[in-house]
Amino acid sequence: MEEIVALAKRRGFIYPSSDIYGGLANSWDFGHYGTLLKNNIRDLWWKTFVLDREDMVGLDASIMLNAKVWEASGHVTGFTDSLIDCKNCHFRTRADHLIENKVEGIKVEGLSVGELTRLVKEHGISCPKCGKKDFTDVRKFNLLFETKMGIIEGDKSTLYLRGEIAQGIFLNFKNVINTMRVSLPFGIAQQGKAFRNEITMGQFVHRTMEFDLMEFEYFIRPEAWEKTFEYW
Ligand SMILES: [Zn+2]
Repeated sequence: MEEIVALAKRRGFIYPSSDIYGGLANSWDFGHYGTLLKNNIRDLWWKTFVLDREDMVGLDASIMLNAKVWEASGHVTGFTDSLIDCKNCHFRTRADHLIENKVEGIKVEGLSVGELTRLVKEHGISCPKCGKKDFTDVRKFNLLFETKMGIIEGDKSTLYLRGEIAQGIFLNFKNVINTMRVSLPFGIAQQGKAFRNEITMGQFVHRTMEFDLMEFEYFIRPEAWEKTFEYW
C-alpha cells in the first residue's frame, strides 16, 4: 500500500491532504491526473446511466438538509459504529472488526454493545497495537458529520453533512413526478460528496471520511419487481 501511495503522489494523481501542516487522517487531494481520471469515470457513468437512457433523470441535491430528514431516515439513531478503546495505548478501533479479526469464523453483525463487550472479554482479545487486554466497554458512535447553522452563539442549530446521497433523491421524488415527463419504472440519478465520521485506518482513497458517490434510485411498480430485477 505504501508503494502505491508514493507512486500516486510522484505521478501527480493523489497527494496527502494538508500535508505541510502534518496532514489530516484519511484525507487526500487529487492532483492533475487524478482529477482527470476521476472526472472521466464520473462523466462516463453519467453518460451511461442518465444521458443515454430514456428512463433516468438527473439530480444535484444539497449536501446540508433539514435535520428532520436524518431523524426520519433513522440515521440520527441508527447510523452507528461500535467502537472500543485500549485503556493502555488509547488505540481506538471498531469492535466488530477487532473480534472478527481475532476469533476465527465468528460473525458479530447485529449484536448489541453489551454482547460485543462480553465477547472481547470471553475470548481474551488483546490490543493489536500494544498487546494488553485492557479495553473500555464497547460504545456506539454516530457516523453523521455534525455542523452548526447560524452565527449567534447559543442560537445555532445542528445540521448534518449528508451521510449518503439517496435521501436527496427521495425528498425530490414528488418534484420530479410533477415536473418531468416520467412514468414508472424510472430512475433518479445523482453524483456528489458524502461524509461519514468513521474510524478508518490506512486504506488510502478506498475508505475516507469524505468521498464521492454515484448512485440512482430506480422506482418500480411493486407487482412488477421480478421483471425489473431481471432486467437490471
Ligand atoms: Zn493498546
